[in-house]
Amino acid sequence: MIDGIIIKGIGGFYYIKAEDKVYECKARGRFRKDKIIPVVGDKVKITIDPITDKGMIEEIMPRKTQLIRPCVANVSQAIIVFAIQNPEPNLSLLDRFLVTVEMEELDIVICFNKTDLESKVDVDNLQEIYSNAGYRVIKTSTKQQIGLEDLKEELKNQITVFAGPSGVGKSSLLNMIQSDLQLQVGEISNKNNRGKHTTRHVELMQLEFGGWVLDTPGFSSLEVENIDIGDLQYYFREFTPLIGSCKFNGCIHLNEPECAVKQSVSQNQISKLRYNTYIQLLGEIQKNRRY
Ligand code: GDP
Ligand code: ZN
Repeated sequence: MIDGIIIKGIGGFYYIKAEDKVYECKARGRFRKDKIIPVVGDKVKITIDPITDKGMIEEIMPRKTQLIRPCVANVSQAIIVFAIQNPEPNLSLLDRFLVTVEMEELDIVICFNKTDLESKVDVDNLQEIYSNAGYRVIKTSTKQQIGLEDLKEELKNQITVFAGPSGVGKSSLLNMIQSDLQLQVGEISNKNNRGKHTTRHVELMQLEFGGWVLDTPGFSSLEVENIDIGDLQYYFREFTPLIGSCKFNGCIHLNEPECAVKQSVSQNQISKLRYNTYIQLLGEIQKNRRY
């Protein structure tokens, strides 16, 4: 048996990269019986039929992570891309992306792209806010080729999903680090049209310096309403060391007195902007509960 990874699945066939080749494979019937469906990203053991050169999935290794949309196993990190201009960064949206990815327990890198553009926001200030919160932050420009080595370093030997709003430069960044990826860049409307008539399959693309990226951005729907009110605090990384230090058990850091989180905000140890998003999301969860 040889080790491989599923890079694509179409209609019961799995395309598996193993020993520098891509094999078309089927899965043993017993997987279906056990209700195990192989998915892209699965690390598998396969056998090859020497005559047809086609493969059979014999074993699926335990999954480290599993995303539902897109349906992929073993993604190890998300790189969340925002532009510093065009489109202007919406920090509360960035915080929503962070909450969504924290829930999946992936590693996170924040990438501020288009640093070549004039912007009202100060990118160093953004970097400070988010690195203080506990995130790795990189700054890039595909136009001026800035930060691309940092991006490569983050991608190396990981399985990465890119996330972020449309038009921030996710495809451009990937094309820059490896030209044979040839992702379509440009107008948002064109990209949507492409998806209309052709069924899009998730595919893992191999990076020449080691690692994999998903060819489609993840986390487009950012539903936070279903989070338990008491759990939201765990998805704000910089809050977690303070949990338990508030006066009241079960403090959600809203109106309670002697709250360690609010105290940190007033001492500028926790960013006011981040705290405001937390309060905003709490409100959305509460509102949703009332109906
Ligand atoms: P995606 O929707 O996130 O994949 O974004 P695209 O990669 O399609 O890029 C959207 C637009 O932004 C394109 O017109 C790109 O040429 C442009 N763009 C991408 N990166 C940069 C950058 O670093 N600086 C500037 N000024 N424009 C960029
Ligand atoms: Zn509190």
